[in-house]
Amino acid sequence: MDSYCVFGHPIEHSKSPWIQTRFAELTGQKLQYEKTKVPLDAFSATVHAFRNAGGKGCNVTLPFKTEAAALATQYSPRVALAQACNTLKFDGEHIYGENTDGLGLVTDLVRNAGFKLQGRRILLIGAGGAAAGVLGPLLTEKPLSIWVANRSVDKAIQLAARHASLAASEGVDCRAFGLTHEAILSHSFDLVINASSSSLNNAALPIPASVLQANGLACDLMYGPAAQAFMEWALTHGTEARDGLGMLVEQAAASFQLWRGVLPPTQQVLADLRALISPSQ
Ligand code: NDP
Repeated sequence: MDSYCVFGHPIEHSKSPWIQTRFAELTGQKLQYEKTKVPLDAFSATVHAFRNAGGKGCNVTLPFKTEAAALATQYSPRVALAQACNTLKFDGEHIYGENTDGLGLVTDLVRNAGFKLQGRRILLIGAGGAAAGVLGPLLTEKPLSIWVANRSVDKAIQLAARHASLAASEGVDCRAFGLTHEAILSHSFDLVINASSSSLNNAALPIPASVLQANGLACDLMYGPAAQAFMEWALTHGTEARDGLGMLVEQAAASFQLWRGVLPPTQQVLADLRALISPSQ
């Protein structure tokens, strides 16, 4: 049976084996998918050992996405821009790298939430691996603007600079700021994406509710109980709120399609997963 795995540290929390096993059941694909906690200094050796033992591909999560991009011998333009990779496919002598995080977010926002991105003003908070993975795919949806705001402004500037050429070709006003820059505090946005790990760290973002719009959307890439405070903050101020669970399922579906050539159905899997991790249960 074809074998896949998700590698990370920590990894106990990962829902990827549950999601990928459900996709395999729903598409009639025979595969096994496991999770492995990798010692911090052993990512490359662990992936090569898995590949040599016959593994067909893997997902990669914190803190190894940058190392995964370096391991790939061929990769997509998304990986080149993000400099981070969450999916590897072992293809003969090659290791192909893809980043499905942004594809997952865009699919969740556009298809699952029915939120059109074209022509919108977007605030992207964070400049870590998640923000790097989603910026390129968001730009290709041709919003009016994407302003990247990060606690450490240098990282936001570097991220926006790497995407400057894509932003120009898509006609998007892409800029970088410190998180509490006056320009951020004095504007409102159709879509506010929290791609920082503030929710993971149980910290509130130091931004006022004036960045939200009544008919807009606020999305935290975190999910489960940790995302509730951000979502409640948005809902309290009249803005629709969404967590990152749909992105999680959609990015997994894009990985599955890369490996198996079949796009799995996601709606039932998302509903079942939401019931499984609902804070009310
Ligand atoms: P990284 O560690 O790479 O980056 C963390 C980012 O968050 C940095 O920009 C950091 O700023 C910022 N940050 C951390 N704490 C705070 C805070 N208290 N206030 C403001 N900014 C803060 O993490 P990732 O980018 O990989 O992950 C970010 C989030 O996205 C996590 O919650 C993760 O769970 C989620 N995620 C969800 C996915 C999904 O499928 N739904 C997929 C991938 C990630 P600075 O640079 O100043 O340190």
